[in-house]
Amino acid sequence: MKKLYIDFDGVILDSIKTTYEIMDKQGIDKYNPVEARAFYEVLDWDKTLDITPEINNSLENIKKIIKSEQYEVNVLTHIVCYREGVSKIRFLKKHIPELSIILVPKEFSKTEVVNPKDAILIDDYTENLKEWKEHGGIGIKFDDHARVHEFPVITSLEEIL
Ligand SMILES: [Mg+2]
Repeated sequence: MKKLYIDFDGVILDSIKTTYEIMDKQGIDKYNPVEARAFYEVLDWDKTLDITPEINNSLENIKKIIKSEQYEVNVLTHIVCYREGVSKIRFLKKHIPELSIILVPKEFSKTEVVNPKDAILIDDYTENLKEWKEHGGIGIKFDDHARVHEFPVITSLEEIL
């Protein structure tokens, strides 16, 4: 079975948008790495993930992909802090108990934590896809507005089937 890695932020949930909105409301400079990190450390991640909109029915689509038995599915997601990781696991397990989840500390590339060789990565961040390809993997760009791109683009996870 082919290995399929699915990014979380910007693919499953629109979480960056939510955290940026909260930062704006609290008057935090989201482009200041020190301020942003301090914000992420104290954020109520469980609540934040619960209020964040799902992107194009992603959770149901992941269930469909698992059910198809075409892929060995893992979520592969960067985390800036420990509590973010705990909440992401809690969130995903609540919705899809059988799903495997791999957390990547921000200090590492996704290609340093898993072996990309011949595996597919669906990610909204082009830099991740470039690194993935450089290490022998197959990159698919997730974009909810279907722009033309150097990588194949999907707007909904079920397009992988
Ligand atoms: Mg992302």
